[in-house]
Amino acid sequence: MRSLIFVAILGSSAFAEPMVSVSPTSVHPGDAVLVTVTGAKAQPHGKAGGRPLVFFAAKDGFQAVFATPLKVDEDHVLVEVTDGAKPVSVPIMAKTFPETKVVVEEEMANPDKEDGVKIDADNAAVEKSYAQAVGAPQFTRFRRPLGAVTSTFGEWRTFNDGHRAQHLGLDLGAHEGARVGAVDAGTVALVRDTFLMGNIVVIAHGAGISSLYFHLSKVTVAEGDVVKQGERIGLAGHTGRTTGPHVHLSIHVDGGMVDPLSFLKLALAPQR
Ligand SMILES: [Zn+2]
Repeated sequence: MRSLIFVAILGSSAFAEPMVSVSPTSVHPGDAVLVTVTGAKAQPHGKAGGRPLVFFAAKDGFQAVFATPLKVDEDHVLVEVTDGAKPVSVPIMAKTFPETKVVVEEEMANPDKEDGVKIDADNAAVEKSYAQAVGAPQFTRFRRPLGAVTSTFGEWRTFNDGHRAQHLGLDLGAHEGARVGAVDAGTVALVRDTFLMGNIVVIAHGAGISSLYFHLSKVTVAEGDVVKQGERIGLAGHTGRTTGPHVHLSIHVDGGMVDPLSFLKLALAPQR
């Protein structure tokens, strides 16, 4: 009798229209956004701001994460999911990011041509590593690393009154040599000694999500290693363009870099 009731409930939900929910319901440029689809008969397909969404099986349907672009002309992002669900319009609220002045060694502020070539190669290697984040989620619920926030995502920095660049991560206070743990389980996609970012680690978590750690004094994992949440990946330091030891955390999702603090708020619930 009990199994009959169960079948009847499943049967009725299979005819319901898929429901789309988006979190948060309004965003700033650079925010991470979670799309949850319930009541879909099969893996849904969809788009956010015209870009395809990559869905993964979640505890309660399907989920996808996307980045609100940092440079955006529109005042909303339209989330469209096929199979009859209603599109959802997510308002984008303007945000003025803080401006700061940073003094670093001259070669870091205004790299010469040779260093410029290194920087381009470093950026290309990081960009390429994101491809390893496709596939099934390896993560559970991301956890913020320890350390007080010393600099936020999106801040504009002018180096030695010259070159201006936007800070695409979160800086957390850490002592030289402090343990740095993975924000969630994944596979080490890249280990590299870079010019501006110093010693870096990129972890691929699946579902298009990567976490990046910069300025490490030492890296204690190798490319291809599978790491658990909180597992040590290296030690904090001040390699690359820094003014002192700290941990720089960046999160990359489908569509670009996102504010790690906005990403860490998302109720990701992959099916395990
Ligand atoms: Zn930083």
